[in-house]
Amino acid sequence: MHEKIALDTIMMTRKARTDGYINFGLKPDGSQFRIPVIIIEGKKGGPVLLVDACTHGDEYEGAEAIIAMAAYLESTEFSGTFIGVPALNLEAFSTISRASTTDGQNLNRIFPGNPDTYITMRLADIYLKRIVKHVDAVITFHGGGDVLHLEPIVGYLPTDDAIGESARQMAQAFNAGYTWRMQNLPFEGVSAQSYRKLFGIPCILPEVGSHCDRLHARQPNIGICRDGIRNVMMHLNMLPGTMPEPAKQLDVELHYIHASNGGIQTLLKKENDLVQKGELLGRITDVFGNTVEELKAPYPGVVIGFWSVPVIRPGDWWYLFAKVLD
Ligand SMILES: [Zn+2]
Repeated sequence: MHEKIALDTIMMTRKARTDGYINFGLKPDGSQFRIPVIIIEGKKGGPVLLVDACTHGDEYEGAEAIIAMAAYLESTEFSGTFIGVPALNLEAFSTISRASTTDGQNLNRIFPGNPDTYITMRLADIYLKRIVKHVDAVITFHGGGDVLHLEPIVGYLPTDDAIGESARQMAQAFNAGYTWRMQNLPFEGVSAQSYRKLFGIPCILPEVGSHCDRLHARQPNIGICRDGIRNVMMHLNMLPGTMPEPAKQLDVELHYIHASNGGIQTLLKKENDLVQKGELLGRITDVFGNTVEELKAPYPGVVIGFWSVPVIRPGDWWYLFAKVLD
């Protein structure tokens, strides 16, 4: 049995649901840095599932799905416990920013954090100790945010052990079009790495939605996230029901290709395009219209996403271009 998650401020209790905050630092204005938490206890015992969003503050699709799922679960019989954290980096979320605004840190590069240093380090540390430690499985939502477009893709950390296998099954159960083994994850300090290393918890990282979609596909993308949570809960025997027909899933190895120069970028391939090695993916021109850079596909692959803002800077991600593995 897990220890129950304790909240510092309770905002609301209604039947099996509790909403509240965990505090992690007094601000100069007298308010607190805090993590919003929704806890819903199922009728029967079972796994504790943590679903979080807005580790990057401008990736809202998962946040809205967590809020919708919590409303649904309040009046639904299920097993286990649902922990929803709709805006893990609430400061970044509130300021429409990917990173924290107080210390400029990217929360998903600094796990496991540190209780004695910068505020975002403290956030990672307290999140691990007060919440993640007490759960059995995690869905941590990401997306394209305000500068990228991404097709729905579900990442998981592959290992040959039971944790890796559980994560792979959760990724498949989520049922998006692409799964990414993250065997080549080019970053350190990612939350999922700490969850596995410190507590042996399987975690999946769905990337869904972007600012490109928010005009006409905001609700469908929230629906993909919400259905994914439901599918994973069915897979974990928390919710009754029949799993949907498995989507046609491609297992890929995703690479981030960076621009070397800044300028105005033009995308020459679209999402989901299958591209041969050497084909032109994009072009960057200067303010006079002269070409300064052309990007050729370094291998045959599929376009998962791209920088979607016309202006790009040297070093920015340009294409999210994947090798197809099966
Ligand atoms: Zn993200």
